[in-house]
Amino acid sequence: MDSRPSDDKAAPVAQLVAVTKSYQTAGGHELKVLENIDLAVSEGEFVALLGQSGSGKSTILRCLTGLIEPSSGRALARGKSLVGVNPEASIVFQTFALYPWLTVEQNVAVGLMARQIGRKERDAAVDRAIEIIGLGNHHAAYPRELSGGMRQRVGIARALVSAPKLLCLDEAFSALDVLTAENLRQELVSLWRGPGKGLSSVFMVTHNIEEAVEMATRIVVLFPRPGRIGLVLENKLPYPRDTKNPEFQRLVAVIHECITTMALPDLPPEVPVQGQPISRARSRMESIPLVPVGQILGLMSILNDSPELSNIYDISDEIGREFGDTIAILKAAEILDLIDTPRQEVRLTELGRRFVAADRHDRKAIFAEQVFKLRLFHIIIALLDEHEEVESARIVKDIASALPYDNPEKTFETMIAWGRYAGLMDCDAKTGMVFVPKEEDAAEESKV
Ligand code: ADP
Ligand code: MG
Repeated sequence: MDSRPSDDKAAPVAQLVAVTKSYQTAGGHELKVLENIDLAVSEGEFVALLGQSGSGKSTILRCLTGLIEPSSGRALARGKSLVGVNPEASIVFQTFALYPWLTVEQNVAVGLMARQIGRKERDAAVDRAIEIIGLGNHHAAYPRELSGGMRQRVGIARALVSAPKLLCLDEAFSALDVLTAENLRQELVSLWRGPGKGLSSVFMVTHNIEEAVEMATRIVVLFPRPGRIGLVLENKLPYPRDTKNPEFQRLVAVIHECITTMALPDLPPEVPVQGQPISRARSRMESIPLVPVGQILGLMSILNDSPELSNIYDISDEIGREFGDTIAILKAAEILDLIDTPRQEVRLTELGRRFVAADRHDRKAIFAEQVFKLRLFHIIIALLDEHEEVESARIVKDIASALPYDNPEKTFETMIAWGRYAGLMDCDAKTGMVFVPKEEDAAEESKV
């Protein structure tokens, strides 16, 4: 099988060259998701791609494996243009369909469906994959009889049964409990390092920083909007890796800081304009994190109740959310000037303190005042100054041209949710018209 010329061996197993990717959103707007991505996975490498939710990680994986085509740039396999799905690659998704009416064995055999091979050979491959992934006693079990961890093993066995050179994992451990996930991670690393299994390279998409540092030889951090390569780190720590090792912790801290600094930059204070309130979001059109008001309120009360929670990691632990989600909530509170985030610290601002202490009515007033300072909202506010009601489609179009790298429909929904809490605007779900709520309606709304 391995009769390829040897110069092919030197070329990366899979590679993206200057790849961009745009999608059409539900409303027909073009959204640029990836920009100028150069990324290669070479023989023997374990590459982890880290990034916040929505930054474009899965899109990169799909381009790299040939599931989708880039809008521009090239996907290569062993140095040659990739046509269709890369035959050397297998993919494990976070959640994937096991057929409930098929046994473990039959579900694993699905991974060989595209191959023209004899029954004997197939059975042997299935047995081997099941053995490798530690499902030896479950050949005849049905998915409903298995735990979540076991099911994920079936998914990995299905990916391994075709003896891929390159295994691609998309958040493959994120739906599992902590211990099961850790166990599977270690097994997967042994499998990749072990001799004679054919698996030479792994490409893993994850939002879990520790997971990346524990497993990968190279870590690539994707910056969002549009997705672009932000940081590349070689990880030479010996296996098995010890999370307590100072170098391990240093790498985790470097990546944390990189992501935080990118998402929550410490901007120099703006020069105040006479007669206008100061807000860093005022002078330029800035996107807003797609965070419900309830989560901002929740964060504020946790910060108020637990003043000892002053750094991002502790807050992330406390609210039980992944790092990227936590950053989004913090960023929302920050652009409203309710908190300040110098370095990795988080502090309530003076206004934030007043906000937490205020009653419902005053909170709403403070929120409204802050929302009013965000330039993005003036797209809507200006239109509502002129018209009693405005079509949401028109607003979405304006948002799309103001913020080309954000999903305009989702941004619009979040703006309306914030604006509704603030009593500044609302949208009639039936007619799609945006309007200024009457005082009493708004008062009613804010009680919910
Ligand atoms: P990640 O895996 O990092 O969470 P994705 O690659 O899934 O990110 O998505 C990146 C962006 O592209 C998101 O804004 C997502 O909504 C958008 N997107 C992904 N797939 C499609 C699609 N088929 N059509 C339109 N937009 C999409
Ligand atoms: Mg994804």
